[in-house]
Amino acid sequence: MARLGGDEFAIIQSDAPQPAAATALATRLVDLIGRAYAVEGHMLHIGASVGIAIAPDDGYEPDILLKNADLALYRAKAEGRGCYRFFEPGMNERMQARRSMEVDLRRALALKQFELVYQPQFDIASNRLTAFEALIRWHHPVRGLVSPGDFIPLAEEIGIIPAIGEWVLRTACKQAASWSGAISIAVNLSPLQFRGGKILETVVSALDQSQLPAERLELEITEGALLDNTDAAWDVLNRLRGLGVSVSMDDFGTGYSSLSYLQKFPFDKIKIDQCFIRDIDAHADRRAIIRAVNSLAKALGMKTVAEGVETDAELACIRAEGCDAVQGYLTGRPMSAVDAMALLTPDQIAQAC
Ligand code: C2E
Ligand code: MG
Ligand code: MG
Repeated sequence: MARLGGDEFAIIQSDAPQPAAATALATRLVDLIGRAYAVEGHMLHIGASVGIAIAPDDGYEPDILLKNADLALYRAKAEGRGCYRFFEPGMNERMQARRSMEVDLRRALALKQFELVYQPQFDIASNRLTAFEALIRWHHPVRGLVSPGDFIPLAEEIGIIPAIGEWVLRTACKQAASWSGAISIAVNLSPLQFRGGKILETVVSALDQSQLPAERLELEITEGALLDNTDAAWDVLNRLRGLGVSVSMDDFGTGYSSLSYLQKFPFDKIKIDQCFIRDIDAHADRRAIIRAVNSLAKALGMKTVAEGVETDAELACIRAEGCDAVQGYLTGRPMSAVDAMALLTPDQIAQAC
C-alpha cells in the first residue's frame, strides 16, 4: 500500500482471485472508512471512493494500470462517492468527451455563445400574461443547441456557474426593462450561485444597470439552495426580498419538499413541478397533491404556478384545483426575445390562454 499524495492511496493486490478479491477489499475499505470515528471527543465523518483496474486486461504497465484505476475512481466519485467502480474500456473516451465539453463551456462564456429564451406565464383567472421565465440555451458550434440540463450541472461542477448566472441575470433584466407594461421576468438561480455570497451584489448591479424596477424581477430557487439550512442562506434570501424582488420556490414537490422552508420564508410563488401536472386528468393522486399544495399556499399567502401544462385537459384540472398561474407548452413554448416582445400586444395577451 502506498500514499500517492494528498488523500490518494494505492493498493496492489496480487495472487488473489479477481475480480472477487478486489470487490471484497473495496467493499471492506468503503465500509470501514465510512464509519463515524470518535477521536478525542469529536465525531469524525470521512469516506472513501475506490477505483479498480485489473492486470493484464486493463493494462500491464504500472502507469497504464494507475491511469485506468484513476478513471474508475473518477467514476466512483461522480456516482456519489462512498463506492467502488471497476475500470471499463469506454471510460477513457467518456472522460475525454467531458474534458472537451469543459473546455468548450469555458470558451462559450468568453465568446457569448449563450442565448436566453423566454417562456410566458399566464394568470389563470384573468388569462393575462404576467411574466416570462428566462431559460438559457447554449449554441455549440458543433453540437448545435445544448439544453441547460446538459451543461448546467457541468458548469456547477467546474465552478463557472456564478459567471454564467451573472450573464443570465444581466441579460434578462436588460431585456425585461425594454418591455412595456408591468411584465415580470423570472430568473433561475443555481444553489451554488446562491451560496457564493456575491448574489446580492450581482442582483443590485443588474437592476441598477438595466434600470428594471426590483418589483419586476423574480428569482427562482430550488430546494438545493436551502439544503444546508444555514442562517447565511436565509439572510441572503431576506436581503434579496428587502430589495423588492420576489422569490419563487421552483420545482416544488420534487426533492425533500420540506414544509419548514415554507414556514421559514414567505415565498411569493410556489412553482409546482411538471411531474405532478403530467396527465393530471387521469391521476386522482396527482390531483390530490395539487389541491393540497394550493390550499397550503393560499393559507400562507403564496401564489401557485403549474409548470409544464401541455393539454387542455391538464389546464382545466389545474384551473379547477385553484392554481393561480400556468406555464407550459400549451400556453407558450420558450421563445426568442423578439417573439416574446410580439406577445406583449394586448390582443395576443388576451388570446393566448
Ligand atoms: P425550470 O426552471 O423548472 O424550467 C422549466 C423547464 O421546463 C424548461 O426546460 C422548459 O422549457 C420546460 N417546459 C416548460 N413547459 C413545458 C411543457 O409544457 N412540457 C415540457 N415537457 N417541458 C416544459 P429547460 O429550458 O430545458 O430548462 C431546464 C432547467 O434548467 C430549468 O428548469 C432550470 O432549472 C435550469 N435552467 C434553465 N435556465 C437556467 C439558468 O439561466 N440558470 C440556471 N441556474 N438554471 C437554468
Ligand atoms: Mg425555473
Ligand atoms: Mg421548474
